[in-house]
Amino acid sequence: MQTTEKTMIHNFNAGPSVLPKEVIIEAADAVINFNNNGISILEIGHRTPQFTAIMEEACSLVKELMALDEDHEVLFLHGGASTQFMQVPMNLLNPKDTAAYADTGVWSSKAIKEAKLFGKVDVVCSSKEKKYSYIPTDFAVPNDANYFHITTNNTIFGTQWQTIPQTSNVMVADMSSDIFSRQLNFNSFGLIYAGAQKNLGPAGVTLVVVNKHILGKIKNPLPTMMDYRNHIAEGSMLNTPPVFAVYVCLLTLRWLKSVGGIAAMEKLNEEKAALLYHEIDQNDLFETTVVKSARSRMNVCFNMKDSNLEKPFLDFAKENRIIGIKGHRLSGGFRASLYNALPLSSVKILVEMMQDFSKRNS
Ligand SMILES: *Cc1c(COP(=O)(O)O)cnc(C)c1O
Repeated sequence: MQTTEKTMIHNFNAGPSVLPKEVIIEAADAVINFNNNGISILEIGHRTPQFTAIMEEACSLVKELMALDEDHEVLFLHGGASTQFMQVPMNLLNPKDTAAYADTGVWSSKAIKEAKLFGKVDVVCSSKEKKYSYIPTDFAVPNDANYFHITTNNTIFGTQWQTIPQTSNVMVADMSSDIFSRQLNFNSFGLIYAGAQKNLGPAGVTLVVVNKHILGKIKNPLPTMMDYRNHIAEGSMLNTPPVFAVYVCLLTLRWLKSVGGIAAMEKLNEEKAALLYHEIDQNDLFETTVVKSARSRMNVCFNMKDSNLEKPFLDFAKENRIIGIKGHRLSGGFRASLYNALPLSSVKILVEMMQDFSKRNS
């Protein structure tokens, strides 16, 4: 794949989204001829030594990069983050028990809807009345709630928990859109899940990190495929895993390690986000849509003060090989997603393009 500076596409897609170029190249090679075996990665059995080595290395890289302790198990499951919306309460909530949820966006509210099918749900805080433009700070979580669920980064409205709330409850987090983007004490969570397609790999696989001690406490029988304990026992091979998607995750995890792990990524992500927010703040044509203290470093949402300029701005972006910046249909405006694999140079080009556009239009 020959991409020069001039032909490079700047991919700000919200998900599925940009992956490291070297990962794409290696994945493409493996589709043709995996490890020089003369067959494609798409043709190997999941019980072969080749694939079990892939699964084992992927799990051990997750453990290493997140610095997980012995209590935490790593799973690669099907069904996307949306399946976790039901699988979490199925495994952790009895019908008469309560789970606490923070409602900070579209994905949180979908998680809440599913949890209500299994037990009582206490929505301890919500930013809905202000279009999810902030992260609530003033709330209490009942001690007896089985767990407290948050969405660490709100992909659609562009807010992010800057600090993880400290409660005595088991913490459960949907980290689909900021997994591996910043350092957190991952061991302090009972369960973390993330659809791979934002920051980890292609669509079709979901990462779950679970503290095994929180499992096995509910009374209702669980369907085989829904019980995390079965997936742990079988090393994520209870049935055929998404072989290719797991392989691409492995390549991305290797890449992440090679560039310095989560600490290095966090630094770069801060730099990228600061650059773009600075431009939005000082450019008269644009405004941010969320409060400063809740700004996401992954999904930067902004509006144009003059909506008549939206279409010309999008056209101008396209001319400059910038794609994926149209906002979600629910929030409108613009959204630039700055996931791990998006290079700083792409953010610089977006910022230059915004400056150029504002010169032409003022
Ligand atoms: C994209 C996203 C989801 C949905 O993921 P699927 O894998 O499509 O089910 C859930 N939560 C968050 C925070 C997301 O960004």
